[in-house]
Amino acid sequence: MEITGEVQKNLGGNMCKNVSMHTEGQSTDHATALRRAVFLDRDGTLNEDKGYVHRKEDWRWLPGVPETLKRLHAMGYLLVVVSNQSGIARGMYSLDELRALEAWVSADLAARGACIDAWYYCPHLPEITGPCICRKPKSGRLLQAARDLHIDLARSWMVGDKTRDVQAGLAAGTSCILLRPTANLEGAVDKETSKKTDETVPDGVIVVPHLPAAGVHILAPELRMARLTRLTRRH
Ligand SMILES: [Zn+2]
Repeated sequence: MEITGEVQKNLGGNMCKNVSMHTEGQSTDHATALRRAVFLDRDGTLNEDKGYVHRKEDWRWLPGVPETLKRLHAMGYLLVVVSNQSGIARGMYSLDELRALEAWVSADLAARGACIDAWYYCPHLPEITGPCICRKPKSGRLLQAARDLHIDLARSWMVGDKTRDVQAGLAAGTSCILLRPTANLEGAVDKETSKKTDETVPDGVIVVPHLPAAGVHILAPELRMARLTRLTRRH
């Protein structure tokens, strides 16, 4: 299947309207300041990975995910989904169907007081559509989002449940967190499990069991600072 230029243009940058207004409001003092972002894989990170999820009936939030997104956003992180969607190249569903699911997810999040700022997809599969620069572990969509949304990659994070997610993050220059259900909350890697899954964890990548734990890790410095400020005020 050929991905046309028009479709290609439409693959990223669907902004959450409420949040883009919020963003403008926040950046009035520093009009050119770059934002921090958390780049998020989709299936297996936000929702249950049932394989080629493209209908709302098949979307199940993983525990604590909307609450974590809300917390990250409240601390000023842009939330950007970067997802491999080879189901498009395979002819299993269309970009329009994917956008319809995205709209439903956004509405569901809004009802919970949370929001995702933008969604970026790779619709390719090298075997079918030829090589591309956007299928993770390639970093094409992260770099595109950084340009579109004025993101400081060095102060940003990539979170996903596959090695290729963190490889894309490392290639783009973000900090990275790999989600492994068997990891403990301190971020230590269970060597035996790593051997079993036959995937090595790249150097410098933090491993935690799920997105809420990743949120705690990302926000730890800010929460420590907030606690210190409260203590200082008290004395
Ligand atoms: Zn691609």
